[in-house]
Amino acid sequence: TPAPLLGAADIRRLAGELDVRPTKMLGQNFVIDGNTIRRIVAAAHLGPEETVLEVGPGLGSLTLGLLDAAERVVAVEIDPKLAGRLPRTVREFRPERADRLDVVLSDAMKVTELPHAPTALVANLPYNVAVPVVLHLLEHFPTLRHGLVMVQDEVADRLAAGPGSKTYGVPSVKAAWYSTMRKAGVIGMNVFWPAPKIHSGLVGFERHEPPATTATREQVFAVIDAAFAQRRKTLRAALAGWAGSAAQAEAALVAAGVDPQARGERLGIEEFARIAAAHAAQAH
Ligand code: SAM
Repeated sequence: TPAPLLGAADIRRLAGELDVRPTKMLGQNFVIDGNTIRRIVAAAHLGPEETVLEVGPGLGSLTLGLLDAAERVVAVEIDPKLAGRLPRTVREFRPERADRLDVVLSDAMKVTELPHAPTALVANLPYNVAVPVVLHLLEHFPTLRHGLVMVQDEVADRLAAGPGSKTYGVPSVKAAWYSTMRKAGVIGMNVFWPAPKIHSGLVGFERHEPPATTATREQVFAVIDAAFAQRRKTLRAALAGWAGSAAQAEAALVAAGVDPQARGERLGIEEFARIAAAHAAQAH
C-alpha cells in the first residue's frame, strides 16, 4: 500500500492547529486529495537521485509525495507559520525521510541561493506570481533540468503556447528562452481547500540551450516586451519606441530577416533573439 498523503481531515487539523487563514494574496489553496498529489508526482517524471525544488509547500501535501519519489526536497515558503510547521509535519507522516527535507523561509521570486542544487522544480504555485517565479528560478538555478508546475489553467495554456496561437504571449516566449513547455493536464477545483473559482493546469518543462545569439537575455526580453505591449500593431510600429524610430525598427527587422509588417504573435524566440542582435549590432 502506498504511504499515506494528506487528506481533507489532515489539512483541516493542521490548519486549525496553526490557526491558518488562507490568504488570496499568497495564493494559498491547499491540496486535500492524495490522488491529485500522485498524479502531479507521476507527471513530474522524477528520478530517485533528484533534488526537487518545491515552491510554496504550504501544509505539506505535495512535499510528502515528492519525498517518496526523490532523493531530496528543498522547499521555499514565504509564510513563516507554514515554513515553521513543515518539518514537524514531515516527521509525523514520513519520519524515515525527514532528514531529506530543507525548508527555506524566503520569497521564491528573490531567492538566489539554496542549500542543495535543485535538478527539478515541482510546485503548486501561488497563482498570482506563477510566471515571474518560474522565470526567476530558471534564470538563477541552471541546474534545474526539468519540472512540473500547477498554475491557473489559463496560465498553463499561455506557458505552453506556440507562435500564432491565441494564448501566445510574453510568458510563452520568455519561457521558450529556457525550456520547452507542454500542457500536462487539467485539475478541478474540489481538490483544494479553500476551493479556487477556476480550473488549474499542469505544465511540464524540459530545459534546452537558449538560442545562439550575440544579444544578451535582457536585450532579447526587452524586444519581446515591446512587441507584445502593442500586439495588434505591426512590428515596425510596435518596436519604434524600443528601437528609437520606426525606421530603425524596420532596419533591425530587415537585418534579422523578419517581415516588418508581421506581428509579434507570429514570431518564435529565435526570431526575437535575431532582432535584438541586429539592433545591438546597428547601434554600434
Ligand atoms: N504546495 C501546497 C499544496 O499543494 O497544498 C500549497 C500550494 S498554495 C497554491 C501556494 C503556496 O505558496 C502557499 O503555501 C503560499 O504561502 C506560498 N507562497 C506564496 N507566495 C510565495 C512566494 N513568493 N514565495 C514562496 N512561497 C510563496
